[in-house]
Amino acid sequence: MNTRRGFLKKTALFSSLAGVMGVNSKAFSATGFSNKSNKPIVISTWRHGIPSNKAAWEVLHSGGKAIDAVEAGVKVPEADPKVKSVGFGGYPDRDGRVTLDACIMDENQQCGSVGCLEHIKHPISVARLVMDQTPHVMLVGKGALEFALEKGFKKENLLTPDTLKEWQKMQEEFNRNSSIINIENHDTIGMLALDGNGNLSGSCTTSGLANKLHGRVGDSPIIGAGLFVDNEIGAACATGVGEEVIKQAGSAMVVELMRNGAEPEEACKEIVRRILKTNNGNKNFQVGFLALRKDGKYGAFSLVPGFNYAVYDRDGNRLIDSPFI
Ligand code: ASP
Repeated sequence: MNTRRGFLKKTALFSSLAGVMGVNSKAFSATGFSNKSNKPIVISTWRHGIPSNKAAWEVLHSGGKAIDAVEAGVKVPEADPKVKSVGFGGYPDRDGRVTLDACIMDENQQCGSVGCLEHIKHPISVARLVMDQTPHVMLVGKGALEFALEKGFKKENLLTPDTLKEWQKMQEEFNRNSSIINIENHDTIGMLALDGNGNLSGSCTTSGLANKLHGRVGDSPIIGAGLFVDNEIGAACATGVGEEVIKQAGSAMVVELMRNGAEPEEACKEIVRRILKTNNGNKNFQVGFLALRKDGKYGAFSLVPGFNYAVYDRDGNRLIDSPFI
C-alpha cells in the first residue's frame, strides 16, 4: 500500500479506536511507554495470589527471569489442597475426575500448554516442558499425561477426601440448576511478571469449572484467551467463565487494546463490556481480566463485584479489589 495512504488509514483506524475507548491518542507512543518502569513486579488473580506472588518475587528479587517466576509462583496454589480451583484438591468434573488446564508464555512469545490433564499435581511445569522440549504448543488428555509421565512426573490422586465431600454436597445444587452459571466455583490463578531486565512472562493454571462435562477445556490453557504476552506491549490473563473469554479471544484483545493506547484497566474494561454486550446485558456470571503493561503499570476489571488480585512490587505484596461494571 502507498505509504501515505497506509499512514492515513492507520491514523484513522487508531483515532476511531481511541474515540471508542475514550483514549487520549497523545498519551500513546508507538515506540513505548514511560521510561520510569515499575520493575520487577508480579501480579496475580484472587486471594491465593498473595502466597503465589511471594514465591514469584523470590525469583524476581534475586535477579531471576520472569518465566521462572511465573512458574514458581503458580506452583504454590497447585500444591495447596485448600485451594479448590487449582491443581491438587481442585473440584472435579461431573464424573468426579479432576482435570487440569494450564499454560505458560515467555518474552519471546514461546508458549506451552496442557488441557484436560489428570493425575499430575503441577500442570504448569508440564506446560513449561511442552514449551521448552517439544515443537508443539498444546498437549491434551491422555497424550499430555503420557508426556508428563515420560518426563518423570509422578501419577497422583488429585481428589482429596475434603474436596470429594464438598463436591458431593454440591451435587444437589448442580441438579437444581440446569445451567452452570453462577455456581461456577472457579478461581483460576493467572500470573503476570515483569523482571529486572524488563522482560514479561505469564502463566495460568486451573481445575476449571466445577462439575464441567468430562473433556471440557476452558480458556485457561488457550493462548490468547486465558493468557497472552507480547514483550513489546504487555501481558494479560483471565478468570471466570472460560467460554465467554474464549469467544472474545480475551487476553490477546486486552494486549491489543494496550498496543493501541488503552491503559491496562481500560483495556480490561473494554473486553468485559464486549462480553456483557454478547450476553445481552446478563450479569449472572463472572469474568475478570488482569493486565500488566511493559512499563509495569497494571490494571484489572471484572463483570461483577468480588474479583480481586494480588500485586507485589517494591511497595510490597497486597490484595486489590478490581473495579467492575
Ligand atoms: N476460567 C476458568 C475456566 O473457565 C475458570 C476460572 O477462572 O476459575 O476453566
